[in-house]
Amino acid sequence: MTVTYATYSSEEFISKVGNTPLIKYEALSNELGRNIYFKLESSNPGQSIKDRAAVYLLRDAIARGLQSGDTLVEATAGNTGISLALLARSFDPPYKVRLFVPDVLIQDKVDLLESLGCTVVKCRVDVDQEHPEFFLNVAQRYVDEHEGAFYVDQTHNVNNKRAHFETTGPEIWNELQGNVDGFVAAAGTGGTLSGVSQFLKSQKEDIVIWAADRYGSGLTSYVTTGGRSWESEGDSFVEGIGKKFLTTQMEGLLDRLDSAITIDDTTTIVTIYKLYNDQGIWVGPSAGVNIAAAAVLAKRLPEGSTVVTTAADLPQNYASKLFNRKWLESAGHWDSIPEELHKYATYLSV
Ligand code: PMP
Repeated sequence: MTVTYATYSSEEFISKVGNTPLIKYEALSNELGRNIYFKLESSNPGQSIKDRAAVYLLRDAIARGLQSGDTLVEATAGNTGISLALLARSFDPPYKVRLFVPDVLIQDKVDLLESLGCTVVKCRVDVDQEHPEFFLNVAQRYVDEHEGAFYVDQTHNVNNKRAHFETTGPEIWNELQGNVDGFVAAAGTGGTLSGVSQFLKSQKEDIVIWAADRYGSGLTSYVTTGGRSWESEGDSFVEGIGKKFLTTQMEGLLDRLDSAITIDDTTTIVTIYKLYNDQGIWVGPSAGVNIAAAAVLAKRLPEGSTVVTTAADLPQNYASKLFNRKWLESAGHWDSIPEELHKYATYLSV
């Protein structure tokens, strides 16, 4: 007997992107006397917020002339690559996907991207954005030199930000019926922060907007110095966020931002463990940054205020650090994790 399987089409994939659950973090909200909500973006088919941008960017690439059999090229720290890989495979024949990634990208993600059929090219991170070996420049050069290679360009193509202006922002606004007092998000490309804040500000001028940041990134400095400095200090294990220069997505963002806050890795890790312990929801490192930042912002707003943020992805792709007792010890986080949460760090590889 021949069994035939229905193909999961690009239309089906696209129809499942967005409209993610808006979750109230109950215990934290009770503790603070302010409401903390986050969009659970792992509910997207590619399990991250980057599905939203990928759909808009791919539609744009098709409108610009992407042909069947062409190669989608992107510079990414991972999640956009996963979204593009899945989306590309929902077409028949699938588009090829070539990704240029920072060489520090966690191996878990590289393995996943390769298993999804992507060609992954590691690029140096110890160079600044003007350097020819910077991963965005390597990607651009590849596209210039290869026929049938199409630059998706989440960094500068504003269809990325448009996805959030047209979907994430309105979803938040409608689900809370306009009862939003603050929004905070970290920036990778800045598409989420820029697009959502632009939409929310268009609905309510006095909404408070903060950028969340990690160590090793200059965004907090950029915001708090009014755009004069990208100074950064330290480093962080949090992937997918952090900036040292302005992307096209972020143009005009400074005018919408009220402030920025840097969250340290230990706080990020404890926030992730606590959320799971309190409410049974797994989120990845950048979500830990966002939720910790949302709590700080909420405390600056009057009692009863509502602050929203995003939880971009799941923790699984970071397990070799996030749940690895040996890594947590060597990076100096273990002793700061409350005893009762130690049970979540059970992965013991080196
Ligand atoms: N968190 C993670 C884990 C990400 O991969 C990204 C995207 N790089 C972001 C947050 C930030 O999203 P955006 O590119 O819209 O700033």
